[in-house]
Amino acid sequence: MRRYLAAGNWKLNMGPAEAVTLARKISMGVLGMDLRGEVLVCPPFVSIPAVADVLEDSVVHCGAQTCANDAAGAHTGEVAASMLAEVGCSHVIVAHSERRTDQRESDDDFVAKIEQVHDAGLIAVFCYGEQLEDRKAGRAADVVRAHLEGVLPRLTRAKADTLVLAYEPVWAIGTGETATPDQAQEIHALSREITAGLLGPGVADRMRILYGGSVKPDNAEELFSMEDIDGGLVGGASLKADDFLGIIRGAQAAAGA
Ligand code: PEP
Repeated sequence: MRRYLAAGNWKLNMGPAEAVTLARKISMGVLGMDLRGEVLVCPPFVSIPAVADVLEDSVVHCGAQTCANDAAGAHTGEVAASMLAEVGCSHVIVAHSERRTDQRESDDDFVAKIEQVHDAGLIAVFCYGEQLEDRKAGRAADVVRAHLEGVLPRLTRAKADTLVLAYEPVWAIGTGETATPDQAQEIHALSREITAGLLGPGVADRMRILYGGSVKPDNAEELFSMEDIDGGLVGGASLKADDFLGIIRGAQAAAGA
């Protein structure tokens, strides 16, 4: 079984003071747990140094929610992956549906960002998934295929090998509506099959594929117990220490702890 990753995406929440309090509660909460996977929190940029500091001696990792397409230069407002590495990040989320929509980021952006993340020695968490209208029209599998085919074949084997995938059906993000374990498993198995075709069976077998979309303490174990679901990317429920710790306990139970 693959080691799970339980990742919290704090989005536009948690300035430095609140973020430190939450990070402390999470790191205290996992103390003494024999973790069968990894735990990651992704605060907003300004809170990263303080959170990374608090987590320095913790098993909980700190990551970022995006990064620049470039390593340096005249790109006002951007933050480079190497800078994120310098302040203690281990992972960077790429292609979250909110950035696909709000910032109109494209496959070209995602390839550039994943390359930057990898070159900085960090791990990219690449998000993809269909909108509600796609699912209703029976196009979920086509959208997932297009999202993966638009990016994965353009990565070098080394970059692809460290990638984490996060299937996030957009209709389940922040809506309280969760894909059923069977619905999620179907797309995860398809994602692994597509990845095997694009990058080879070895890479596909090793690749962690997270599920994201209204993961909560009471559905985490069931979701993460599915064969091709290797943990979760969690938005709302990662903002409350008790809920996020409940999700980690669900992941632990799914991992047989
Ligand atoms: C997300 O934003 O990646 C997400 C899955 O959010 P939520 O858990 O709130 O649905």
